[in-house]
Amino acid sequence: MGILETELAELRQCVPNVIADSTVEACVPAMVRVNIERTKYKQMVACFQFGPDYPNSRALIELKSRHISDKLLDGLTKLCEEEADKYLGKPQVLNVLRFVRTFIDENPLCCCSDEISTIKRKLIAGSDELKLKQRSSSVVLKVIQGVYFIRYNIVVPENYPDKQVSLEEKGCNFPALFKRWFLAQANEIARQCVVPPAKKRPKDPPFVLKPSLEPVISFLISEVRKYVDMECKFCKQNALPLDPKEVVSDESSPYHVERVYCGHVYHNKCLDTYIRTPPFQEGKKCHTCGLRIYHDKWKLTPETAEARWAHKQAKQRELDEVVDFLT
Ligand SMILES: [Zn+2]
Ligand SMILES: [Zn+2]
Repeated sequence: MGILETELAELRQCVPNVIADSTVEACVPAMVRVNIERTKYKQMVACFQFGPDYPNSRALIELKSRHISDKLLDGLTKLCEEEADKYLGKPQVLNVLRFVRTFIDENPLCCCSDEISTIKRKLIAGSDELKLKQRSSSVVLKVIQGVYFIRYNIVVPENYPDKQVSLEEKGCNFPALFKRWFLAQANEIARQCVVPPAKKRPKDPPFVLKPSLEPVISFLISEVRKYVDMECKFCKQNALPLDPKEVVSDESSPYHVERVYCGHVYHNKCLDTYIRTPPFQEGKKCHTCGLRIYHDKWKLTPETAEARWAHKQAKQRELDEVVDFLT
């Protein structure tokens, strides 16, 4: 038996035992093809072809994957070739397969390599940061806009994308209300990527599970960009203080920043004056986008608002009369 035949016979026997989660799909002199599938997305097929002077020359190696990005596969193929070169003159395939399997284990973020390159290319800008932590299968996202920032640790679970990413806030100098909103809404977006809606409307397309990392990061980045310079349309000042040290978290403070239903922001005092001042009948509209204002703090019906306004005006008249009398 030739050197190659001996290697092939050995591979057929030992690959399934030595390389975890592997299937030998072909193992003949023309080609060896092995599928390694730790999870649906942590999957690669390694193909080997052999020249006439193998093993004195390197086997031709090709890597394929349903979900891992081509860029990553190209880089990894080069590393596999370097690995094979270490074994020139000897059997190479099993060593390369071991190398591929170790790579998948030590780089769990390979399952979202496509998303990560899109995020870096399209979303990360200026002094923002996206750091990959392979050991803990997580990314650290820092978004900076002017003097405001958020920092999140986002964990990519083992059976991603079937299970959604989980988030942990690691720093944020926005007011408490924004911190809560960012985290709650990011979690909700992640959940909606993997859980079908509870109530399906007849015209909705069938639910398709999708990876949650990019939608979550895209949301966080756009929120930070949006709110830092947003103006309170009543007083024409920046809604958030220009110095984050002046951020108020006391909800009764006049400068507490209120986020109304449509997502626009106003100072507590500005919104309060507007909501308590006529006209009431049309309902109160957002000064920025024209949508009806809904806010937990102000649940006045137009009738109550009208009555309160009238009462306040009457009081003021009485007071004015007293003042007139005294002067
Ligand atoms: Zn204002
Ligand atoms: Zn609005």
